[in-house]
Amino acid sequence: MTTFSYWEQQGLQGVDWVVVGAGLVGLQSARCLKSAFPDARVVVLDDHAMSNAASLRNAGFACFGSAGELLDEINRTSESEALSLYEKRFLGIQRLMQRYGPDRLGFESTGGMEVFSKAESGNAHRIIEALPYLNQLLLSVQPSGAFHVCDTLPTGMDVYEKGIMAPAEGGIQTHWLYRAVREDAIAQGVEIYEGMRVVEWDESSTGVAVILENGWSISAQHLLICTNGFTKQLLPEVSVAPARGQVFVTAPLEDLPFRGIFHADQGYIYFRSLENRLLIGGARNLDFAGEETFDMSVTAQFEDHLQNYVNTVVLPGRSVDFEYRWSGIMGMDNNRNPIIGWHSNRVCLAVRMGGMGVALSSWVAEEVVRVVRGDVGI
Ligand SMILES: Cc1cc2nc3c(=O)[nH]c(=O)nc-3n(C[C@H](O)[C@H](O)[C@H](O)COP(=O)(O)OP(=O)(O)OC[C@H]3O[C@@H](n4cnc5c(N)ncnc54)[C@H](O)[C@@H]3O)c2cc1C
Repeated sequence: MTTFSYWEQQGLQGVDWVVVGAGLVGLQSARCLKSAFPDARVVVLDDHAMSNAASLRNAGFACFGSAGELLDEINRTSESEALSLYEKRFLGIQRLMQRYGPDRLGFESTGGMEVFSKAESGNAHRIIEALPYLNQLLLSVQPSGAFHVCDTLPTGMDVYEKGIMAPAEGGIQTHWLYRAVREDAIAQGVEIYEGMRVVEWDESSTGVAVILENGWSISAQHLLICTNGFTKQLLPEVSVAPARGQVFVTAPLEDLPFRGIFHADQGYIYFRSLENRLLIGGARNLDFAGEETFDMSVTAQFEDHLQNYVNTVVLPGRSVDFEYRWSGIMGMDNNRNPIIGWHSNRVCLAVRMGGMGVALSSWVAEEVVRVVRGDVGI
């Protein structure tokens, strides 16, 4: 039977905020809580030291949504909701840039290009015709224009000759961002403990007893759940489905003919230059049901599909090998807006970051503080 020392048990009593999840959302929310309430003791718990958080398994796109995705979002929801989601992502990236600086994040200001297969030229025209409307809609967010038509020929890809450029987008080095956010949280006085899997909690009028898998109980005033794609494991009733994303990185390539980040197949496929390699991921539309899983494997079906896409569309006529393969779990729902709010008197949620949670994370962290302060209705 596991025993706990006096020191271990005393050391984690009297906590003001326990934050579950040391991803970008948990760490930045903890940082923002600590800076809003400097006397509060804020402790972040995660069951893994690494290799679980989507925050270290993503593609490193600093992006806000392609023109095609934005039109879909308007059709599915409304102009104002689509604009609001785009704005949160845009402001989120601006906040990361202001706080850490582009160099510390490895930000490459390449722009993000949406490309279309030749068979999709009709769809490309439809979206291109809508660009003046979209740029007008986004004027308050991006006065210099969110999108413009570009020529895809110089990329050497086997795609339709016109693409859509989003000049404010770019790529980051995911591990640099994570390190900056983690160091910042610690510098603000946030405590981070890993190997701590939360399984349940017991809420009373005086506090929350947070129960770990090993039987340990930590007493806190409040609990903030930042478990994103894993949320259903703790709170099955919350509308956040796990959605696996599979990612592959090639061996070093000679003369990669482009730099930048790219969106294709209505945003389902994404690829980018990564120094002298190519990163490619996505294609969840091959099997939505199969990818609704917590299992972090990669599958032959996705690897073959994406390898074929590279060899025929991205680098036509070449045959590349993948050297890195991994997957990560996103938190999804038909409603793409994050859930930020009180779940009960002492338990707050900041989950469901969708496919662009890097961009959303710093905005979400600040919203958590607004919710806690009572500035935002739920
Ligand atoms: C393959 C892939 C590619 C992506 N590409 C991009 C991109 O290019 N750009 C972009 O903006 N976004 C991208 N995303 C989305 C983005 O990475 C996520 O939305 C974001 O990282 C979510 O951060 P988070 O902190 O909410 O969750 P996570 O980073 O997933 O962190 C959640 C943490 O909670 C912990 N946890 C869960 N349950 C428990 C428990 N019971 N007890 C203790 N700890 C627990 C987990 O271990 C994990 O560390 C991508 C995601 C994936 C998977």
